[in-house]
Amino acid sequence: MRNTFLPFCPPQIGEEEIAEVVDALRSGWITTGPRTQQFETDFKDYVGAPAALAVSSGTAALHLALATLPVGPGDEVITTAHTFVATVNAIEHTGATPVLVDVEPDTLNMDPDLVAAAVTPRTRAIVPVHYAGHPVDMDPLYALAQHHGLSIVEDAAHAVSATYRDRRIGDCDNPVAWSFYATKNMTTAEGGMVTGPLEFIERARIASLHGMSKDAWKRFGKGGSWYWEVVTAGFKYNMPDVLAAIGLCQLRKLQGFQQRRAAIVAAYNSAFAGQEALELPVTRPDVGSAWHLYVLRLNLECLTIGRDQFVQELIARNIGVSVHWPPVHIQPYYAAKYGYQPLDFPVCYRNYERMLSLPLHAGLTDQDVADVIDAVRDVINKFRR
Ligand SMILES: *Cc1c(COP(=O)(O)O)cnc(C)c1O
Repeated sequence: MRNTFLPFCPPQIGEEEIAEVVDALRSGWITTGPRTQQFETDFKDYVGAPAALAVSSGTAALHLALATLPVGPGDEVITTAHTFVATVNAIEHTGATPVLVDVEPDTLNMDPDLVAAAVTPRTRAIVPVHYAGHPVDMDPLYALAQHHGLSIVEDAAHAVSATYRDRRIGDCDNPVAWSFYATKNMTTAEGGMVTGPLEFIERARIASLHGMSKDAWKRFGKGGSWYWEVVTAGFKYNMPDVLAAIGLCQLRKLQGFQQRRAAIVAAYNSAFAGQEALELPVTRPDVGSAWHLYVLRLNLECLTIGRDQFVQELIARNIGVSVHWPPVHIQPYYAAKYGYQPLDFPVCYRNYERMLSLPLHAGLTDQDVADVIDAVRDVINKFRR
């Protein structure tokens, strides 16, 4: 057993990030300015999006994208029960009603047939979430959106570098929300991005900064003018240059991070193949996963313990693990407001009961990976039924 604790997901910050942040701090410009602008350009080029707007979080990106469509009171927005609560909170913040659907048993992504069945005359938008980095089956959703005149806003918090039918997630004409939270495939400590059509991004840009017609860089920069007008009651969602500095460096390292993630996934997959007690993550043939998470599902009938104790046993063996996530519909706020029961979304709930996420990030050494594999095997051997 390893004698030091392996954290689930520490950020991968190197000397480059530290130097770039220090440069930003020394530059005389710390809030939104040239580094944020460069980060937007680099990011939009990486994902193949028409335009990009850096914001303060993935949650801000989701809320801003929905508010810019706009969606609001009286509208319904369809999303998945199997997501982080930020997706559904963002819909609530607009005043629209979130309508949850269950997931497909293999990918745990929203089931397009259930989305089709959930459309009503009030439906205004669909928010697919690319769970664990595996793209949602988008083509049926695009067909549905076109047929009913709906908008699509993707929650791509897990999906930077993912591909669907040979196109990067982000290389599309609808708004996409991204997160650079500390645990994501690339980070700015806290931060997010909205990508999408240029006209949409320009409207979102104004709404992201109080609704002012000019940002501070344009007001205080050389040749700028002090005068501005408020054209909408906007938000305060801009990303500062100090954090964009981290993002610029992370983006340059991203392809290397992704290769390491894929190698770790391959090592886990081959080590766990044939283990009766485990169900391994799937990748459909027409996608490339961003491998944000490595989610194991336990075949509980093969074990004398449940998921919670399995997690405890791994932690006792110094392996940091997590669960993504307790479903939205069992959260007290949503259960009370919409009257949900756990088995209203049975695929989501039954899989939640047996899932756990293993450490997966570019900083894991081969020894770390071997330690994780040994610990998982040891727990299975000890608690085999
Ligand atoms: C992390 C995450 C978010 C929120 O991103 P923040 O940057 O933490 O606000 C939204 N949706 C999903 C699926 C996430 O995993």
